[in-house]
Amino acid sequence: MLTNTLGYPRIGNQRELKKACENYWAGKITLNELQDVAKSIKLTNWQLQKDAGIDLIPSNDFSLYDQVLDLTLTLGAIPTRYAGLTDGNLTDLYFAMARGNQKDGNDVTAMEMTKWFDTNYHYIVPEFYKEQQFSLLSDKAVDEFREAKEQGIITKPVLIAPVSYLLLGKEKEEGFNRISLFERLLPVYIELIGRLVDAGAEWIQLDEPFLALGTDAEAKACILKTYEAIRKAYPSLKILLATYFEGLGENAAFAARLPVCALHIDLVRNPEQLDSVLPVLPENVSLSLGVVDGRNIWKNDYQESLKLIAKAKDKLGANRVIVSPSCSLLHSPCDLTAETNEEVLTPEIKQWLAFARQKLDEVVVLKQLANSENITFAANALKVNIATIETRKTSTLIHDAAVKQRVAAITDADANRNSSFNTRKQLQGKELNLPLFPTTTIGSFPQTKEVRSWRAQFKNGDITQKQYDALLKKETEETIRFQEEAGLDVLVHGEFERNDMVEYFGEKLSGFAFTKNGWVQSYGSRCVKPPVIYGDVSRPEPMTVYWTEYAQSLTDKPVKGMLTGPVTILQWSFVRNDQPRDITCTQIALAIRDEVTDLEKAGVKVIQIDEPAIREGLPLKKEDWGQYLDWAIRAFRISASGVADATQIHTHMCYSEFNDIIEDIAAMDADVITIECSRSQMELLDAFANFNYPNDIGPGVYDIHSPRVPSQGEMIVLLEKAQAVLPANQLWVNPDCGLKTRHWDETKKALIAMVGAAKALRETV
Ligand code: GLN
Ligand code: ZN
Repeated sequence: MLTNTLGYPRIGNQRELKKACENYWAGKITLNELQDVAKSIKLTNWQLQKDAGIDLIPSNDFSLYDQVLDLTLTLGAIPTRYAGLTDGNLTDLYFAMARGNQKDGNDVTAMEMTKWFDTNYHYIVPEFYKEQQFSLLSDKAVDEFREAKEQGIITKPVLIAPVSYLLLGKEKEEGFNRISLFERLLPVYIELIGRLVDAGAEWIQLDEPFLALGTDAEAKACILKTYEAIRKAYPSLKILLATYFEGLGENAAFAARLPVCALHIDLVRNPEQLDSVLPVLPENVSLSLGVVDGRNIWKNDYQESLKLIAKAKDKLGANRVIVSPSCSLLHSPCDLTAETNEEVLTPEIKQWLAFARQKLDEVVVLKQLANSENITFAANALKVNIATIETRKTSTLIHDAAVKQRVAAITDADANRNSSFNTRKQLQGKELNLPLFPTTTIGSFPQTKEVRSWRAQFKNGDITQKQYDALLKKETEETIRFQEEAGLDVLVHGEFERNDMVEYFGEKLSGFAFTKNGWVQSYGSRCVKPPVIYGDVSRPEPMTVYWTEYAQSLTDKPVKGMLTGPVTILQWSFVRNDQPRDITCTQIALAIRDEVTDLEKAGVKVIQIDEPAIREGLPLKKEDWGQYLDWAIRAFRISASGVADATQIHTHMCYSEFNDIIEDIAAMDADVITIECSRSQMELLDAFANFNYPNDIGPGVYDIHSPRVPSQGEMIVLLEKAQAVLPANQLWVNPDCGLKTRHWDETKKALIAMVGAAKALRETV
């Protein structure tokens, strides 16, 4: 029985890679210095895995920015706009593809980035052209194999398989399908794998995640050709074919019969697939069991995993069983032992967690237990594990009977506003007295260096709560004054007291824990530190009333209360795995509902519940969308429906594409929805227009991701486009998203121009 990992976090325990990359980009360190940091992370990771007892240790899972971009460079699939950059070093070309380049008279845009399946990791999307050619350009995979070999570790190089690589990309020209590039691509892979074999590779891991997502006949034919061709070229090379994030479903028999040495399946996401794979696995194929969750931070339940391993062992024999994490550990934070601050993460909660480093030990102990090795040690580890899992099941920290009862008692009435939108709109109109094309913003105003330094000083104890509040109050007041002067209709307080739209709420809710160092790569050098939802969620006291009430006290204009919605809080956290996600989401919805009604009681007439993550929560398989949307939309409605008809509920979403979920967006029944729209030139509005979307909409009229100040004229053009597809009395005027990353000078100019555009438009109707 072997142990295996599919990939390991590469940011470094202290985010060394992030810092080194950013210093390199800023010209503060040399390429050699950057490579030294990279090398040290790689060597540490390999040694760590070896010492832990992992047999099949990956290489080429490291990346300076993104593993898909590494492959694009390796295969020479460089879009022509980077042609001017190919003379320099490959690393600079690589970073230009990742981030764009505006140096030395060049001005090239970055390649597109998108989410890696349903994770919060983002990869750089390969661009394909009809005449696309491939040729080996970078030797990264071979170099890394050699680096490890020099340290005495024979690794298993990891490559995204050719069909999955093509499917991850996008056609940039009409008139061809990227799968048709397969015949040109395969020989380059064969050559690359040949170099790995020459360097001494015995195993190679080919990631074929699309096999678990349902692939069409053409893709399947290419997948079969891939493995036949590799087998033919290198008969003694052992291939581990890796699938993850879903079950193989109807592809189980097909995947099992591919000419490979081992098949990896994700048994955390889909334990049932073991039963469909075991009977069809040919005798010469091993099965890698992904039993340790690579995407969440909970300790493995050994007894549950051992059941799965025993079942496989019975059928296949020990020597055909491999024990693994479910997917690459890239999606886990590095090392729990770095969490030494007991005030941040209490020992009781910490004992339930396992980060990447701890997951290695879990994989090894599970193998020892299943294979009767290291018996005394392993038996003791099992005993400790059973006891810990038991404390989690029964902990009073986790279980709050009142919360459970409240969830059980929810009725349909709780998920519905009192009256229909038309009735509400009239009442809200009387209450708020807004002009046509009302103007507003999405919530945050610039989080300047000063604002962030105040928060840091307050957290370090350098200033008192009173001093901190006084500084924030001044900033809030100035923001209110500016909005009044600019002539905005619905004001906001600016969100200066918030670090992050999820963390801020998590810190105030029961059932949430935080880490000091639980960083996970989101893209390139950007890392996120998701809160941990460990227990039943409730709201001990109001979270935002103080600041909203304060802001409202400064002005006669309505101030909009700002909240993060239940689905977004769920989506951007590590979620407990001991109850279904929808229950956790409903608990959060009730906590937000309490806040909404408290805001209303405090006299706030407009309340926004942000839900930017609803779309990214969609399951990978379309057949599962309906069930998710049912509970997700209901959670939003529960959070929003505790108020009187005259109270106006807004929501905000910032991602593209509403077409396929427009019915569900409408079912949220927010009085006003603001969406990101300007970069698509209002095209996104078509989904709403075609659906005859009934409630009010604020299509973002300028892009807040850029410092560029939009002119009044261009915003009028966009609004006229909107007006061409939707009635004027349904439209609001606002930016695309929050302004926290912008500077004040550009913010002021842009908002003044935006109000000007709305006023000009009012004249025309
Ligand atoms: N209210 C938040 C803000 O303005 C919304 C952020 C978001 O949509 N991601 O910053
Ligand atoms: Zn947004």
